[in-house]
Amino acid sequence: MMVGLTGGIASGKSTVSQMFKEKGFVIIDADIASRKVVEPDQPAYREIVQVFGESILLPNQTLDRSKLGSIIFSDEAKRQKLNSIVHPAVRKQMESWKNEALAVGKQTIIYDIPLLFESKLTNLVEKTIVVFVEEQVQLERLMERNHLSESEALARIASQMPLREKIKLADAVIDNNGELEETRSQIEELIKQWSLHP
Ligand code: ATP
Repeated sequence: MMVGLTGGIASGKSTVSQMFKEKGFVIIDADIASRKVVEPDQPAYREIVQVFGESILLPNQTLDRSKLGSIIFSDEAKRQKLNSIVHPAVRKQMESWKNEALAVGKQTIIYDIPLLFESKLTNLVEKTIVVFVEEQVQLERLMERNHLSESEALARIASQMPLREKIKLADAVIDNNGELEETRSQIEELIKQWSLHP
C-alpha cells in the first residue's frame, strides 16, 4: 500500500514518520528527494544553472537555495520555470526509491510529503494521513524549534493551507497534541486498522 503522510509546519510529521520508520516501514521523503536532485552531479542542477545563471551558486558550487528562494518569491514565471525543472526530477527520484523498496519485498511505502495536497503528488498514494495539532500547540512548538518570535511563527503558519482544511482531505488523522506515547499508540492502531505490513 502506498500511503501519503503530511501535516503543517511543526505539526509533527517528521516525528510520526520516524515512528513508522522504527516499526520497519520504508519512508520516502520528498524534502530529501528535492535536495538530492539539485546536487551538482544531477541533470536538474545543470538545467537550473543554465536558466538562472551562475550567480545562484555558492562558492562551493552548490545551489544558493536562499538566493533562489528570493528570486522566485517575487517572480511567478521564474517560480514556475524552477518547478518545471525540479518537480519531474523529484517525482522520478521518488519513483526510483519506490522501485528499490518493492524490489526488496517491501509492501508498504510511506511518502512523507509536506505539500501533499497542494502538489499533484496525491496520485502517488492510495491513502493519506494528516498529522494534526491545534494551532496554539503548533505555534508553541514552532517558536521553540525554530527560535522564532510569535509573529514570525504566526506568519509561517498563515502562509500554509490550514491544517483544518487538510484534515478534511485525509483518510486518517493522527492527533499529535499530546504526549509522544499517545501519538505512537494512534500509529499502532492505524497500522492494525489498515493492515499495514512493512
Ligand atoms: P516541519 O514540516 O515544519 O519540518 P514537522 O511537522 O516534521 O515539521 P516535527 O519536527 O516532527 O514537525 O515536530 C515539530 C517540533 O515539535 C519538534 O521540535 C518536535 O520535537 C516537537 N514535537 C513533535 N511532536 C511532539 C509531541 N507529541 N510532544 C512534544 N513535542 C513534540
